[in-house]
Amino acid sequence: MTESILVIEDEVRIARLLQIELECEGYRVSIAGSGQQGLERYQEEQPDLLLLDVMLPGFSGIELLRRIRAVDAETPVLLLTAKSSVEDKVSGLDLGANDYITKPFQIEELLARVRAALRLASGRKTPEAGSWLRADDLELNEATREVKRAGRSIELTPREFDLLVFLLKNKRQVLNREQIMAAVWGYDYYGDTNIVDVYIRYVRKKITQGNQEELIHTVRGIGYVLKDSP
Ligand code: CA
Repeated sequence: MTESILVIEDEVRIARLLQIELECEGYRVSIAGSGQQGLERYQEEQPDLLLLDVMLPGFSGIELLRRIRAVDAETPVLLLTAKSSVEDKVSGLDLGANDYITKPFQIEELLARVRAALRLASGRKTPEAGSWLRADDLELNEATREVKRAGRSIELTPREFDLLVFLLKNKRQVLNREQIMAAVWGYDYYGDTNIVDVYIRYVRKKITQGNQEELIHTVRGIGYVLKDSP
């Protein structure tokens, strides 16, 4: 089955380059040049992946991401951001972008990230309904994407959710940052595994309230382990 990619980018030269390169890789590609057009195409075509420029005429890529994530937590979205814009990256990741690529990008790197995001998304499809992963009073349902601790619902971004799934599936095993990176991001982040620490911190904060037991433990010099409290 040919996977389809929607490119939302107003710079014609870049949009055209992306179309040619992605079609060469065998993807079906369509292009939208504004936030509004992007939203319409997304609704009509239900693409397998979106490449979304942040700076768009009309409403921004960030606003479009917000609208898409309100109804669709699954479809991978990779943001194209200006190198300088840390704010866009952070708010994009908070809103559930799967990854971001800074401009100017190397086409090989972009293609690698597209492949990784599609591979992770297809591996995630149709988990068994009704089966919960648990540690202590924390429970997670992969099919419905529900996460609860002591009965309280917890909202996670797609990446935080994937990270918690991986830790729960490997309960009591010490995992190093490279393993986590490969499983959750789909490739090694060009040697920079700090992002793992950042996301561990986000997830810990969300799953631990008040005097609840810490479930994710740091193993100094190695990485992390999730386990039931003693
Ligand atoms: Ca632009």
